Amino acid sequence: MMNSFFSTGRARRAACVTVAALAAWASQSAFADASPHALSFDYDHQDAWHIESGTSQSPIDIRSAEAVSAVHWKDESGRIVVHVTQTDAAVIDNGHTIEVLPQQASATIRGRRFTMLQAHFHAPAEHTIDGARYPVEGHFVFRAQDGRLAVVAVVYRQGDANSQFGQIVSAARRGVQTPLLGLDLTKLLPADTDSYYHYLGSLTTPPLSENVEWYVLTEPMTLSAADIAAFTQRYASNARRTQPLNGRPVIRHSGESAERAAPLDPAAD
Ligand SMILES: [Zn+2]
Repeated sequence: MMNSFFSTGRARRAACVTVAALAAWASQSAFADASPHALSFDYDHQDAWHIESGTSQSPIDIRSAEAVSAVHWKDESGRIVVHVTQTDAAVIDNGHTIEVLPQQASATIRGRRFTMLQAHFHAPAEHTIDGARYPVEGHFVFRAQDGRLAVVAVVYRQGDANSQFGQIVSAARRGVQTPLLGLDLTKLLPADTDSYYHYLGSLTTPPLSENVEWYVLTEPMTLSAADIAAFTQRYASNARRTQPLNGRPVIRHSGESAERAAPLDPAAD
């Protein structure tokens, strides 16, 4: 799709305008100071990473048997709703990962409004679930008006191809923001965004700042072997080691849609 987009002079000029607009937008959006990947660091020497604060670090091994079920209050929603699912975006290979910068996307997370800053990917996955590690994990990074960061994490298992993921990886250029028109977030996120493990942690890259809300979605998405290989050709090992939980609670939230779908009526089909 990107190839045909760049195939005519007129399209190329249009693309340049888009790049300029996206660059202007990215600098205005204060994205730079919130990028978890802004500093220089090396995954082979994680012991040398400077931790600014505390003992509430990410990622973690999620132990499903020890997770506490969320209590449902009548006036409180545990839902995660992403509002703009299709938007123009820019893609960049920033030297640590491949990052997607949507021009316009937001989410309501448990009743609070967040703006989406960027999404990026790790291989293998950073969070493990009962010790099991998926081949890829996506981090959708959101920020509230008060500066609070929330990361919605999606695990990807090997299965059907994911055309949106493939498009992102093939569009990414090292150190250059490349336009990606019509990014469809629904193809990267599972249908059920309301079933997740939630805990308080940190950025998983320097500066490893804490007070980050994590939402690790329980429904995996799929990538083909070729999708995974296209990413791991660039980044085969950009995952931080799991960190001690240190007594933090991990809350398991089960989506209302999952609950509604549970009692299947065989006669209805
Ligand atoms: Zn990340």
